[in-house]
Amino acid sequence: DERAFRQELRAMHGASYGRYKSLRGRWSFGGFTLEVQRVQPDPFAPASRCEVRVTEPVAGFPAELWREPVRARALAGYLVRAADRRLRDSRLRVDAGRQQVLDRSACQVVGGEVVLRLGIDLPGRGRTIDGRQAERALCDELPDVVEAALRWAAADQARVREFVESVEDTDSLRRQLPGLGLIAFVADGAMLPRRSGVDERPMTGGVPFDSPESLRVSVDLPNRGRVTGMGVPEGITLIVGGGFHGKSTLLRALEFGVYDHVPGDGRELVVCREDTVKVRAEDGRRVHRVDVSPFVSHLPTGSDTADFSTDNASGSTSQAAAIVEAVESGAKVLLVDEDTAATNLMIRDARMQALVAKSAEPLTPFVDLIRPLHAAHGVSTVLVMGGSGDYMDVADQVLMLDSYHARDVTDRAKQLAAQPTGRRSEAETFPPVRHRVVDPRSIPTDRPKVRARGVDALTLGESTVELRGVEQVVDPAQVTGIGLALVSCARRGVLDGRRTVAEVVEAFAADVAERGVAAVDERYVGDFAVPRPFELAAALNRLRVLKVSGFRT
Ligand code: ADP
Ligand code: MG
Repeated sequence: DERAFRQELRAMHGASYGRYKSLRGRWSFGGFTLEVQRVQPDPFAPASRCEVRVTEPVAGFPAELWREPVRARALAGYLVRAADRRLRDSRLRVDAGRQQVLDRSACQVVGGEVVLRLGIDLPGRGRTIDGRQAERALCDELPDVVEAALRWAAADQARVREFVESVEDTDSLRRQLPGLGLIAFVADGAMLPRRSGVDERPMTGGVPFDSPESLRVSVDLPNRGRVTGMGVPEGITLIVGGGFHGKSTLLRALEFGVYDHVPGDGRELVVCREDTVKVRAEDGRRVHRVDVSPFVSHLPTGSDTADFSTDNASGSTSQAAAIVEAVESGAKVLLVDEDTAATNLMIRDARMQALVAKSAEPLTPFVDLIRPLHAAHGVSTVLVMGGSGDYMDVADQVLMLDSYHARDVTDRAKQLAAQPTGRRSEAETFPPVRHRVVDPRSIPTDRPKVRARGVDALTLGESTVELRGVEQVVDPAQVTGIGLALVSCARRGVLDGRRTVAEVVEAFAADVAERGVAAVDERYVGDFAVPRPFELAAALNRLRVLKVSGFRT
């Protein structure tokens, strides 16, 4: 069959480009089957797509490396990177991802069978087929890549095991957090800073993390055994310290602690609970029918803040909406950085309270809602705030970063907080969030085009969803995944006109748990990664055409 494939390519040489279509279908090579799924109509169109399958006995990986779902994901993550390394200067392309080991369509290990999905730019000269180059790519390079991914010599076995066991440890660590009463863990020796704002690899020569003794905990992991590090307890955690001392770097590492990182990343043992959501101000975004009344009592426009909509939110209203939306979609840990927060939503100090009466200020600052949010909703917050001491009053623990070293300064902060500033709290409770019912017409079902613009935006048919303010999106493949998942939810009737935003993303998460990547897209043609339910909700919330048909509490 491989011979027939070669002959077909040779016979095509010089023929008009459209004849590539005859490659569609399944071809069996020695050791694997190749399915050509989609053929580009011309040399300038998006790459053609193909799928390689290697059966379990041929792939030959021991079952212990793939029987557990977390191990299967890790093994796939290793294999796709091994394939990618072999693909320099090739017409073949595989979406291996970067520092995070995501569940992605490009490689899956199911019951020991390995599925690899690639793009190929089918070569042409003008509008005619270059069959010789196509033959080189598909008949020589491709088997070579498959071989590279599946190679199972002694040295590779050690590397595969290291990768799989590291990911399994990260996953285990994250799962242990609730039982330990922790929301996050940062291992001693972890390397948090990155090389640059555009290079996610670890900084070389950075200061490794060392935990303050009072917060040090040790945790047993399935492969590494006992590790020590800083445990961040539930409640309110304040991170203080001078500018440039590493506060945001620590928070950023926590944001990405919802993902598992590749060995050597430096954040392999930096985790937070999976229901952690970073919130920030994002002026200009759309907000649709969100109850922001805990934060905003009345607006100069007279609009109802319990049912608040705008196509152009301000910094403070966008952040208020982001917090309420996160709680609505089930977040139990919020992360906030002063660098990306709206000052007037964060603080209102004693002097300002004296000068501007409460009746003249629509905003209730987060400092007065952060504790009620924990008491009434069980939502913990980790907050970076180097510029105002008012949060000392409400913090359970205060962490100071001093030249990249973390110190527990809770006792000193509590002493300071005992001296009154004259500031009065402006809120007693955080009322229940109102759940919004999604109108099914919000998302087209006619297979709209889904396209990622990096990690910044998603194109869904005619509309564009801005995702720049959704900072836990780390990979363009997740953006594609969000788009496909929204369409899939609409097509399969998950948006039934009764489900709320929270119920829609919950149904999606349940489907992912059952069917993996197929829950996002059943046709597997393009590259995508499985998004978290929170980012799915975030995209839904930012959809310019989102319609809400009612409320439930
Ligand atoms: P802050 O938020 O306190 O102002 P940042 O977290 O933005 O500080 O860090 C300031 C700079 O220090 C950044 O360039 C960052 O890469 C670097 N940095 C952070 N943590 C470390 C570390 N542990 N070792 C070396 N450099 C670091
Ligand atoms: Mg900062």
